[in-house]
Amino acid sequence: MILVSACLLGHKVKYNGGSNKNDLLLKYNERGHFLAVCPECFSMLPVPRPPMEIQGGTGKKLLAGRAKAQDKNGMDTTQYLLTGAEKVLKIAKAYNAKFAILKESSPSCGVKKIHSGHFDGKKIKGQGVTTALLVKNGIEVFSEKEITIGRLEELMAADIKN
Ligand code: SF4
Repeated sequence: MILVSACLLGHKVKYNGGSNKNDLLLKYNERGHFLAVCPECFSMLPVPRPPMEIQGGTGKKLLAGRAKAQDKNGMDTTQYLLTGAEKVLKIAKAYNAKFAILKESSPSCGVKKIHSGHFDGKKIKGQGVTTALLVKNGIEVFSEKEITIGRLEELMAADIKN
């Protein structure tokens, strides 16, 4: 199976109660290779919820205990991000998933970028916590921005052989 951020598949699980529906991924969803995951829902955070950002680093640094996460109201959400990431990894292992397609810029799912940690709309280079944990465990993670028809075909062919 290929893990996909649930919000990209149209699930209304985003912090503001909406989704990030991606038409290409939805079309390919019909082939039955995708497994929708939302780390922030798996950690029992509600929908909607205040936006959160990693403070003082990236997902990799948070995993190493050297950064924290906070929501816009000042609540420490570090443990929620860690719990969600661990649950997604458990699912990946149970399904022997080798690939994931996750939502760019999220503190959990970001692949190349995340928000700065200052709630100022700016982004920095780095991965979200779930992405960092999946990559650390040998899973190849792409963002929706890197997805093309060719890449989806390749991922699905590899998933059939897996
Ligand atoms: Fe989407 Fe990931 Fe945020 Fe869940 S945690 S809403 S899957 S970006």
